[in-house]
Order: sequence, then C-alpha cells, then structure tokens
Amino acid sequence: MAGAAEPVGPTDATAVPRFAGIGTFARLPTVAEAPRWDIAVVGIPFDGGTSYRPGARFGPAAVRQGSRLLRPYNPALDALPFALAQVVDAGDIACTPFSPEEAVGQIQAAADALLEGGGRLVAIGGDHTVALPLLRATARRHGPLALVHFDAHLDTWDTYFGQRFTHGTPFRRAWEEGLLRREQSVHVGLRGPLYSDRDLTDDSGMGFAQVTADDVGSLGVAAVIERVLERTAGSPVYVSVDIDVLDPAHAPGTGTPEAGGLTSRELLSLLRGLEPASVVGADVVEVSPAYDHAEITAIAAAHVLYDLVTLMARRRGA
Ligand code: MN
Ligand code: MN
Repeated sequence: MAGAAEPVGPTDATAVPRFAGIGTFARLPTVAEAPRWDIAVVGIPFDGGTSYRPGARFGPAAVRQGSRLLRPYNPALDALPFALAQVVDAGDIACTPFSPEEAVGQIQAAADALLEGGGRLVAIGGDHTVALPLLRATARRHGPLALVHFDAHLDTWDTYFGQRFTHGTPFRRAWEEGLLRREQSVHVGLRGPLYSDRDLTDDSGMGFAQVTADDVGSLGVAAVIERVLERTAGSPVYVSVDIDVLDPAHAPGTGTPEAGGLTSRELLSLLRGLEPASVVGADVVEVSPAYDHAEITAIAAAHVLYDLVTLMARRRGA
C-alpha cells in the first residue's frame, strides 16, 4: 500500500445512509481525502467518438449513482477490496467535447499524471475512444499489454467518416502503436452483423483471438476463462469492458446495442475468473444513461467495476 496507515474506506453506511451524501464511486474517499492511493476510479465523460446513440458522457455520473449500494466485502472473491488497498475516486478527467483527437491527447496526459505515483486506474467511460489514451498511459508504465476486451464489437475498424479516433477504432490504433502483445489479446462476447467477413480476417491478422457470445453459451464460462488465461499468461493484462457485451435486456442504456449478448451473471463470472491474471489497468465504457431504465445498466457497470477493483486490490504490487 502507498501509505503506512490503514486505508481510508467508504463512508460508513450504518452512520450515513447510502442514499445520502455526495456520490463518489462506492462512496469511496476522494484523492484529497486519501492522496496516497493504490487504485483510483476515474471518470472520463467523453462521447465525441460515438457513431449511433450518444450520451456516454453522462456515464461516470450514472455509474457512481448506481454504485451506492456496493458493500465492503466481496464474497465471490473472498476479499475486502477497500481494506486491501487504498482505493479512491479521482473525479473526472476534463476534456474537450469538440475534437476526438484533442480529447485523446488530454485524456492521455491526465492518465499519465495520475499514474505517476505508481498506482493503477479503473476508468468509467465515456465511449470506447477513451481506451486508446488509457492503453497508451498504461503501456508506458508496464510495456506492451495483453488486452482482454469484452464487447459485442471488434473495435478494430480503421476509420469512420475519415476519422481515426472513434469508438470503433481504438484497438486498431493501439495495435498500430505497438501497445498490445501480439497473439496475447482476445475479444470476448462478439456478435451481430458486420460490414463483411473481412472485418474478422483483418482483426485476426492483427493477432486478436475472437470468442463470440455464442461461444460463451456453447463452451461455458469455465472453458472461456481457461482460454483467456492461457492466452494472456505471463503478460500484464488490461481489461476493457464495453457494457454492450451484455444483452440489451441486461444493459439497455448503451450506444450500439446488439441482441444475443451475455447475461450480467456470465460477465461477472468471467471477470472473477481472471483472478490469476495480473490486471494493471481497466475500463468500463459505453454506459449511456438516457437509454437506461431503473439503473439496470448503471448498476451492472458498477458491479463490473467493483470486481475489477477487487482483482487489482488482491494482487496489489503483483
Ligand atoms: Mn460495443
Ligand atoms: Mn466498444
């Protein structure tokens, strides 16, 4: 842990009810309250790279609100994540809503500055464009990364309307820039119509493995975990979760929904199965609250974040 003292934990829900107070993620302390932190949850309210439904700029606020009921003990991983490490809410990274390219630079600079103290980031998007600057900042500290990418979509397209920085292109850029370990990265949850079969062959030509949503159904969660762990073994791992990996029934509040997706239980089980991996950075993106109902999507995203934080806290320094 960064500090010698006990970590500052979330606000005590037996003293202040969960619906009261300013809503940081899981009611964690801010950076001002715990300046020596190991893991920071940080919002990136940028959606200038979306191609269909907009609104993910409101994702960080919605996911924080959806995280108020998270409790300190994670039984599925037998861990008290906020006691194992100092976890904080670092607020939001401010970036321009008018230029994706400029925003990518601003997000990268802010992520670099946050990582200076040696901690790790779990980001709340924002659309998937934000993964590129996060991968750049994380790879600068840890070297090329094995990407475990949960998404209905490949996100390895080249350009859209001539734009190189969009929510459908971050992993093509990351591959071009050498941020990812070849033959060690994997997409999980792919489905839905494509432009042509070239989308898939281009992607596998970049060295990505493809696990479809149908594969998760037919092989089962345990077999998929085994495949992912085999693929990423020995590498620092970055986990990027596009909430549209979930079926629209489990995540209606998102920008590019596709039928036939994972259940939230399948996704959480897959994430917990990554426990042996060394997760050095992560994001949860594409929550668009205007399309959400009853906080279904925001709550799913909050639980995904909670398990990602737990994975990191259990392996602090490893
Ligand atoms: Mn997607
Ligand atoms: Mn995506």
